[in-house]
Amino acid sequence: MAPRDAAKNRTPSHDWAPETLLVHGGQLRSGFGETAEALFLTQSYVYETAEQAEARFKDEEPGFIYSRFSNPTVSMFEERMRLLEGAEAARATATGMAAVTAALLSYLRAGDHLVAARAMFGSCRYVVEELCPRFGIAATLVDGRDIGAWRKAIRPSTKAVFFETPANPTLEVVDIAAVAELAHAAGALVMVDNVFATPLLQKPLRLGADVVIYSATKHIDGQGRCLGGVVLCSEKFLKDHLHTFLRQTGPSISPFNAWVMLKGLETLPLRVEAQCARAARIADWLAERPEIARVLYCGRTDHPQAALIERQMSGGGQVVTFDIAGGRPTAFRFLNALKLIRISNNLGDAKSLITHPATTTHQRLKPEARAELGIGDGMLRLSVGLEAVEDLTADLEAGLAAAAG
Ligand SMILES: *Cc1c(COP(=O)(O)O)cnc(C)c1O
Repeated sequence: MAPRDAAKNRTPSHDWAPETLLVHGGQLRSGFGETAEALFLTQSYVYETAEQAEARFKDEEPGFIYSRFSNPTVSMFEERMRLLEGAEAARATATGMAAVTAALLSYLRAGDHLVAARAMFGSCRYVVEELCPRFGIAATLVDGRDIGAWRKAIRPSTKAVFFETPANPTLEVVDIAAVAELAHAAGALVMVDNVFATPLLQKPLRLGADVVIYSATKHIDGQGRCLGGVVLCSEKFLKDHLHTFLRQTGPSISPFNAWVMLKGLETLPLRVEAQCARAARIADWLAERPEIARVLYCGRTDHPQAALIERQMSGGGQVVTFDIAGGRPTAFRFLNALKLIRISNNLGDAKSLITHPATTTHQRLKPEARAELGIGDGMLRLSVGLEAVEDLTADLEAGLAAAAG
């Protein structure tokens, strides 16, 4: 198949439901008629003639030039994500952090101001608090739950707001529609890291967001194999900002990783649904235990922001955060006694994984910053996988017995 024919070979998407889009959407079938999406491990592409090469470079003829710019397998992954999110444009990146960094740095410049919710992934805090200011981009961190704080922080030079909802690991939630209204009134763009909600449980674009970012490393792969990221945005944001930044700075996803993500999308609804159902049961089980001081789960009615969650999410997600009474020594005894649930800082995997945020994902923060976020020494973040709930609760039970030790 000549690259210029690629668009003609795309599986049309019609008005398919998400499950159907995730199996068929965006497929580019080559002349060999393969059923499964092909993996194009190629750095560059050959041209029929010198004239064709010139036309490609001048953007007068569609087609592939170099895999730092685009690649058929990566393009299938991007198109499937675009259809799922209902965005005008999608670009894949090497990691979730590459997606966050590209979205922010392709758009903001010296003199601009950024407002971000302080409860966020540790590396995102580095980009916002340390990297942006180095380039003259001032950043203000706010309590994302407090609309008054957003209103106070947004000023005429504010060009973007950035937040994660639900946030890692405290599962704090930001009112996307309310923040978008404030940001848009000031002429600022709204960028949402939607990892914890997954593309299925929350639709930030419909609530007013302008840019949505994923670490595909998490639920999109869903089986702990490859790193990847995605930025979803308008055609205009892509054309004016993101496109050239990605081409020239090169945080491209490997076609192999894009292929793994593309196949991961086919089972995303099944996995997310099954993991959410298990997480809800585990959260209820933990809430009944006297050793557990507090359970945070977006699907429980005792979540402090349950009403907002009900409005903007269609499910509770697969992460359960809880505080074990007795602080760090008890938390460590508990973790070390687990046999099935493994200690790992990753999430969204088919395998249940647990981490102690204060000493891992958030150890870089000063103790005061951790206290401000409510990340105590007894806090544990559990990413619920696809195992049988009975096996998971038996493991937790054994952990609690050892922790009481
Ligand atoms: C994991 C994660 C990221 C970073 O993604 P990588 O693929 O590890 O670079 C960003 N935001 C959130 C909320 C995450 O969970």
